[in-house]
Amino acid sequence: MSATRNSPNASSDIHDQADRPSREEAEAAVRVLIRWAGDNPAREGLIDTPSRVIRSYEEFFAGYAQNPHDILARTFSEVQGYDEMIVLKDIRFESYCEHHMVPIIGRAHVAYLPRERVVGISKLARLVDAFAKRLQIQEKMTAQIADTLEEVLQPLGVGVILEATHQCMSTRGVHKAGASMVTSRMLGTFRDDPSTRREFLSIVGHSSAFSVSNS
Ligand SMILES: [Zn+2]
Repeated sequence: MSATRNSPNASSDIHDQADRPSREEAEAAVRVLIRWAGDNPAREGLIDTPSRVIRSYEEFFAGYAQNPHDILARTFSEVQGYDEMIVLKDIRFESYCEHHMVPIIGRAHVAYLPRERVVGISKLARLVDAFAKRLQIQEKMTAQIADTLEEVLQPLGVGVILEATHQCMSTRGVHKAGASMVTSRMLGTFRDDPSTRREFLSIVGHSSAFSVSNS
């Protein structure tokens, strides 16, 4: 099954850099949006806004310049036979809804059951950011994190849960602040072994209701 999945680095995700607009073109586009909103981009308070927005975009979308496989490339095998679950929980992330380009703010819980090799724990957080700092939908981001861990580390199992609030839902549209979306991807032992999944869910503090979901 995993062999048929698209690689998270599939070129469809990364636009051809040769076709990238210049900074001046990007700033001009922001001025158009300011005018579209009904304001005057030439007034004092807005004069530097386009360049600030573009600098912000460089942070918001830094993930396009990162190769998630490279982040996990350095692994360690001297682990004294450690063969229990490794969990990094409550990884805060900021992503951007690809439908409305407004923030998705949430937490990720990432776990794996190593097969001999482990990765530095901060790399799990960097992996989350590499996918978060792009235009996203939460379901895809969840799958990308899990699939990359599986592909690179080839562990016995992977579990990823994302919980996030979507500002496209809280600040516009149905205006439901406080609603959070939960997505998960369980692979290997996390999918097949109920006790592994239960252990993960109890570590990250999720109710047993979750233990029947293995999307
Ligand atoms: Zn949206």
